[in-house]
Amino acid sequence: MGIVVQKYGGSSVADAAGIKRVAQRIVNTKKAGHQVVVVVSAMGDTTDELIDLANEVSPLPPARELDMLLTAGERISMAVLAMAIQNLGHEARSFTGSQAGVITDAAHGKAKIIDVTPGRIEAAINEGAIAIVAGFQGVSQTTKDITTLGRGGSDTTAVALAVALEADVCEIYSDVDGIFTADPRIEPRARKVPRISYEETLEMAAQGAKILHLRCVEYARRYGMPVHVRSSFSEKEGTWVVKAEDVHQEDQNMEAAIITGVAHDRSQAKITVVGVPDKPGEAAAIFRAVADAQINIDMIVQNVSAAATSLTDISFTLPAGEGQTAMTALSRLQESVGFDSLLYDDSVGKVSIVGAGMSSSPGISARFFEALSEAGVNIEMISTSEIRVSVVVAEAQVEAAVNAAHAAFELGSDEIEAVVYGGTGR
Ligand code: ASP
Ligand code: MG
Repeated sequence: MGIVVQKYGGSSVADAAGIKRVAQRIVNTKKAGHQVVVVVSAMGDTTDELIDLANEVSPLPPARELDMLLTAGERISMAVLAMAIQNLGHEARSFTGSQAGVITDAAHGKAKIIDVTPGRIEAAINEGAIAIVAGFQGVSQTTKDITTLGRGGSDTTAVALAVALEADVCEIYSDVDGIFTADPRIEPRARKVPRISYEETLEMAAQGAKILHLRCVEYARRYGMPVHVRSSFSEKEGTWVVKAEDVHQEDQNMEAAIITGVAHDRSQAKITVVGVPDKPGEAAAIFRAVADAQINIDMIVQNVSAAATSLTDISFTLPAGEGQTAMTALSRLQESVGFDSLLYDDSVGKVSIVGAGMSSSPGISARFFEALSEAGVNIEMISTSEIRVSVVVAEAQVEAAVNAAHAAFELGSDEIEAVVYGGTGR
């Protein structure tokens, strides 16, 4: 019987009843003979409420103080959870991220974990206690200030602790039963995926599926830590995120082995630079301006230039929240680059099919595009990786596109499998 790290998201500990339910679950794991380390998120929407509060007192809250404020959310949950466990007759001790040895760099709001020294956690579990750790936070190695890891960062705390403690498994509890072939809110026939590789999970998460914090999956992959994504509201087996070679084909039908799931993302916008002179250096100038504005772009499409004019159009996608900044940066280039105009469209969405099997089976893109065409969905942009095909479509057609792709690759189950127990999805 080894060490089990369990992480409970905000919806699992939203109120006193949730805290007590989770406490019972933790005690059951302990009684089964495991050493248990628990990572908790802030209760319900606490983090959002704290951010609202900060914005009410200051238009631009200083990053150091904002981190200090936000980490309070997780401290509330860890303390009340420890109380609830003690009430069940078991010893529990709570620790802040800093006390648990989560050492980060100094980048407030998006700190990276650089070391984990969980001496106090080891001591607590070796003395028979249950250790409860505040997620999403650490302490900077250089400034000694309290930092946060970015929204949703408790997943990463959990995996990092699991690795440092050499745990058998890291269990991530939320209010859904696992990872599904598509978002059950728009695809009611979505099926739970029993096992999925780190690589596929990374692609799904990067393409908008709200499964796990991206960095948590990167961390788990780097150290080969098995992650079990499951619901705290049911006893059902969830989804195991494991090495590609441990994803057993026999768990799934043949189709599912080729395409694992469909992800979608409505948070993107598209910018088109119209009438760019077709000569060396123009694309470089455009994307240098966007990069200097610290904007991450996703897909890029450049059309062939019209022979008569030697002008071309370049389109790219970016997070809608950065749209204004990018447009301002680009409009400053209009004269030097000599393009005609800029178009901005934030009513676009991205739909992606992901699956490790596609690299060895031809015709996947054709099947995807045929399904979209039969559903009357127009494709605006396309991009691919070895295990993914993504398209940009009108936002109003995202749902139809997900349904069409899901059906075309026969991902659906006959019964309704997906249950969302809580509210917020985490
Ligand atoms: N409470 C933080 C958030 O809401 C961290 C987490 O939930 O993982 O982003
Ligand atoms: Mg949260």
